[in-house]
Amino acid sequence: MSGVNILTDTELERFSRQIKLFGVDGQKKIKCSSVLVVGVGGLGCSALMYLASAGFGKIIFVDNDIVELNNLNRQILHWEDDIGKAKVESAIWKLKKFNSSTLLDGLNSEFNEETGESLVRSVDVVLDCLDNFKTRFILNRLCVKYRKPLIHGAVYGFEGRLFTIIPGKGPCLQCIIPFQPTEISDPPVVGSTPAVIASLQVTEAIKIVTGIGYPSIGKFIVYDGESMSFFEVSVKKRDNCPICSLIDYEDLQL
Ligand SMILES: [Zn+2]
Repeated sequence: MSGVNILTDTELERFSRQIKLFGVDGQKKIKCSSVLVVGVGGLGCSALMYLASAGFGKIIFVDNDIVELNNLNRQILHWEDDIGKAKVESAIWKLKKFNSSTLLDGLNSEFNEETGESLVRSVDVVLDCLDNFKTRFILNRLCVKYRKPLIHGAVYGFEGRLFTIIPGKGPCLQCIIPFQPTEISDPPVVGSTPAVIASLQVTEAIKIVTGIGYPSIGKFIVYDGESMSFFEVSVKKRDNCPICSLIDYEDLQL
C-alpha cells in the first residue's frame, strides 16, 4: 500500500480521538495492518464496521451465503433491499462508503483448507466470526500453522464467548475444545449479543497490532447478557492437543 507509513491530515482528524489513546505511531500500525474476517453474519457485520472505523489498512472478508430475511435482526450490514444478494456484495459497498481509504476485499466463496491457506498467510490478524466448528477447526489449524493471531468469537442467545489465540504464547482453540461439538443450526440469538462480542474481537485486534494492553491469551471470556455479567475461565495449552502438538514452538519468533 502506498503512503501507509504516513497519516494524512484527514486521517489525523478522523482518528484523533483514538490517537489520543495510542498516538500517531499506534494509528500508523493500524493503517499498516491487514485483517481477515471469516464470516459476514452477526459477528462479521459488526466486526467489519468497527475494523473499518478504526482505520485498518486492509480488510479481507469471506462468506458464501446470501442474505435472508431472518438475518436482519443481527447482521447489521445487510438491509431489506439486500435480501437474495451475496453477503459480501451487500457488505462491501456500505463499508466503502463508510471508510473509503480502507482497502476492502470481499470474497464470495467457502472458507476451506484450499481457499483458506493463502488468505491466512496474507494477513496480520484473523477474526473467527463463524457459526460452525467444522470451519473453525480449519481456521484454527491454519492460524497455528502460519503463526497468525486468531480471535475467536461465538454467540448463542444472550451468551457470547471470546478467546484470543497467539500461537506459541498460549492455548489454541482445540486445546480447549479438542473435538468438534455437535453443530446447532439456526441457534437463537438476539442481535446485540454478536455486537458485544464483535466489539471485543476488534478491541483485541487493535491491541495486538498496536502492542497496547494484554490480549485475552489463556483466558476464555464468557458474556452472559441475561444476568449482565462477564466471567473468565483460565485455560492452558494441552500437551496432546491435535494441533499444537504438531508445531515446534521452540523455533517461534514471536
Ligand atoms: Zn492447541
